[in-house]
Amino acid sequence: MIISMRQDATEAEIEHIIARLYELNYQAHVSRGVERAIIGAVGSGRRDELEALIAAPGVEQMIPISHPFKLVARQGKAKRTIVDVSGVLIGGEELVLIAGPCSVESREQLYATAHAVKSAGATMLRGGAYKPRTSPYEFQGLGVDALRLLREVSDETGLPVVTEIMGTDDVDLVAEHADMLQIGARNMQNFALLRRVAKCPRPVMLKRGPSATVKEWLLAAEYLVAGGNPNVVLCERGVKSYDTETRNLFDLTSLALARELSHLPVIADPSHGTGRRDLIPVMSRAAISAGADGLMIEVHPCPERALSDGPQSLEPAQFEKLVRDLFIPTRKLGGVKIAIGD
Ligand code: PEP
Ligand code: MN
Repeated sequence: MIISMRQDATEAEIEHIIARLYELNYQAHVSRGVERAIIGAVGSGRRDELEALIAAPGVEQMIPISHPFKLVARQGKAKRTIVDVSGVLIGGEELVLIAGPCSVESREQLYATAHAVKSAGATMLRGGAYKPRTSPYEFQGLGVDALRLLREVSDETGLPVVTEIMGTDDVDLVAEHADMLQIGARNMQNFALLRRVAKCPRPVMLKRGPSATVKEWLLAAEYLVAGGNPNVVLCERGVKSYDTETRNLFDLTSLALARELSHLPVIADPSHGTGRRDLIPVMSRAAISAGADGLMIEVHPCPERALSDGPQSLEPAQFEKLVRDLFIPTRKLGGVKIAIGD
């Protein structure tokens, strides 16, 4: 941390900061310029106690030089994390394709979707049992019945399954049925849930909150890792914006930045990121180019009958085409075809 003192800071105020730094287990490197004094604080004390010095007399600015997240930071970690979800490796060489309905609606719907996405190349199944809906009058999910169906279909197809967990009381039940727990966008900063899921032996997919900064997202991941669960996968699903043409602003800059700042794998969810079926294939290719370790795509056998997120759900044939076209070259440069994803 660099502490910049005010121009009119007194010698006593500077000395007070130096003394306080030593008390907090930091060394003080002082540089007295013509205009002001700058103090470099280096050490292993508590960051919150250090940051509190902004309120001390004579302090003008404090400039952090390290990230507030430690365990999820890429800095100082030689290798990227690979998360093993019942045999499917997220963050390794292979792109991971997670597909399935927004909500589990019936056995027929889930079977049909799972078989279709598997034959198209999906490596994991998704499906919501507990749905975080904006209105209490909208479909809330089939709960434990959906969990049972997910387990049954996962066992039959061999596709590991990820499903959302909304409350601390449901963690054991969901973990008993699912291979991976999803913490949804709306719960990204539900700290009680993060702490509880940190104690669960299942891997976790942590979605980015609808208006969370990358730092807040990584600090939420830090709760999971610091709490004892190192198997965390981040998921970019778009943030709120001023434009109503799309459901969210699918933020691939932040996806790339999250992979830059953290060693954790990052999945892209262009279904929620755009909210529009027509944009999902192209944004899937863009996400792969940006470095995504995988995609999460909503698929429904009959989107016009979907109980949630029909407008962004692909029909099975559309998903199959999306997978087929994921790496097709779309442009030439100097007569040479450029393969998207290279
Ligand atoms: C979902 O995956 O169905 C979902 C509700 O996602 P999000 O939390 O990103 O809105
Ligand atoms: Mn959905």
